[in-house]
Amino acid sequence: MLSGAEIPTQAIKPTQAIKVDQVGYPIVGPKIALVSTAAKTFEIRRSSDAKVVLRGKLGPAATDSLTGDTVQAADFSELRQAGIYYVEVPGVGRSWTFAVSSDAYARAYYLAMRGFYGQRCGTAVDLGPEFPGHAHAACHLHGEFHPSSGTSGPRDNVGGWHDAGDYGRYMVNSGITTGTLLWAWEIYGPQLKAIQLRIPESGNGTPDILNEARWNLEWMLKMQSSDGGAWHKQTSVHFPGFIAPDDDTLPSEVIGTGSAPYKSTCATGDLAAVAAIAARLYKPYDAKFAARALDAARRAWKWTEQYPNVTFRNPPGVTTGEYGDASCKDERLWAAAELWRTTGEAAYHQFFLSNYAEYLPSLDSPPAENWNMMAPMALRSYALSQRKDADAKARAAIRDRMLDAARAVARRTSANPYHMSMQARDYVWGSNGVAAQYGMDLLIANVIAPNPDFANAARDNLHYLLGRNAFSLSWVTRLGEHSVEHPHHRPSGSGKQPGAWPGLLSGGPNAGRQDAVLAALPKDLPPAKDYADETASYASNEIAINWQATLVFLLAGQLH
Ligand SMILES: [Zn+2]
Repeated sequence: MLSGAEIPTQAIKPTQAIKVDQVGYPIVGPKIALVSTAAKTFEIRRSSDAKVVLRGKLGPAATDSLTGDTVQAADFSELRQAGIYYVEVPGVGRSWTFAVSSDAYARAYYLAMRGFYGQRCGTAVDLGPEFPGHAHAACHLHGEFHPSSGTSGPRDNVGGWHDAGDYGRYMVNSGITTGTLLWAWEIYGPQLKAIQLRIPESGNGTPDILNEARWNLEWMLKMQSSDGGAWHKQTSVHFPGFIAPDDDTLPSEVIGTGSAPYKSTCATGDLAAVAAIAARLYKPYDAKFAARALDAARRAWKWTEQYPNVTFRNPPGVTTGEYGDASCKDERLWAAAELWRTTGEAAYHQFFLSNYAEYLPSLDSPPAENWNMMAPMALRSYALSQRKDADAKARAAIRDRMLDAARAVARRTSANPYHMSMQARDYVWGSNGVAAQYGMDLLIANVIAPNPDFANAARDNLHYLLGRNAFSLSWVTRLGEHSVEHPHHRPSGSGKQPGAWPGLLSGGPNAGRQDAVLAALPKDLPPAKDYADETASYASNEIAINWQATLVFLLAGQLH
């Protein structure tokens, strides 16, 4: 029976001053909440009946320069009973609820992967009874070749994921995104294999993460011209209004560089890399598709030998995302690494060995990988490879560099008052993707040289994304009791849908303040507070497939 003193606490509204991972904490491992108002003690209470299950003292106060907050830690690691709880701090209030569970992140992974399904283009999408009304009819059915592509005429428009808050599709961002998802499968396959995503292909004998990734792979393969090169993007010539996908009637154009050879090397290098990964991962499930992917990868590679650095700029009259990049050598390095891993052929290996060393410094200050910098993924791929013909000196150089960096990041993470890896310079457009990327890099280091410090620091970045942050906000839509509600995402903000589409990671705080909403915030805000949960804040609240994929990787690494 409940004591009278305990019942009213459930009526207390949660306070942002207490920060928890609103999804939860695994049963084994550190469990830390943060409190940003001066206090001395805390209690962990069971959500169902407000019963106190643990009492503790808050840690020493520490001032965090990135937020301006003074925070104290509530360490409740000794709680090992599965359940739903909240933190209460006498005199301050209570937190949002969270789970302690052996599969705390299973649903988060499911929702984040379903986020990709919701981005599918050229087809009808319906999230089903779980999220009624989150559906649209087949979108963007009118495709054609833009004059800049060197060809003309109609072209079908089925396949690929809408890139972000807009409806474009861009090869280079597709490259890092699809590569990250395929790596999640390659590294954590046993944990992911049985997870059904309730997508149209579910039950076809292929694991659903591969089914979903293939939706985008098929589009990437379609972007390859008969000469082996890949066009850079397929978008309308300008962004549509804030309308639902099926209301956007602008033609979707295959856009090229405007002059021969019309395709770009960065797009073609990324295609070669991703198709090479696909060739090895899909083989057990669909050997024909794997062979087609390998053939595409080889032809793409060959094209980049002939055209080693054809870069892309938006042709006149085209104003959608550019994804421009001055050097495509890092994309080629990634392609060489993945082609070698898949085939073992000397030509790819030789290119890698002749060129990797100049990129070793990119491993020193993670997270360096980005859609325009693929060398760290090339190097990590080489280090992850189990191939016996690997060059021992190259592999050791890469591993040493990666592990030194991971140790430094893990130390910095545990010393940070908010227990996360970010530094002031990381609060850029898509900073939540940077946090997720820190986590992914730490997890890869943990694969190469298992170390609980790496795994814990990786999870700390996940805690940051899921609510243990200055805003006490889960940056993944519909995940946690206090989550982002107004992402810059046309399907969510068109007015035709019942609010935010689920499972999508918002871009996060951005000291660059490139939109009017951020520009109007108080001038003296510290970088980690340059954020607004408003649809108009594209610079801090847009969703994007590249950081969505990194979130998936980070979640996949938590599953058992
Ligand atoms: Zn579409």
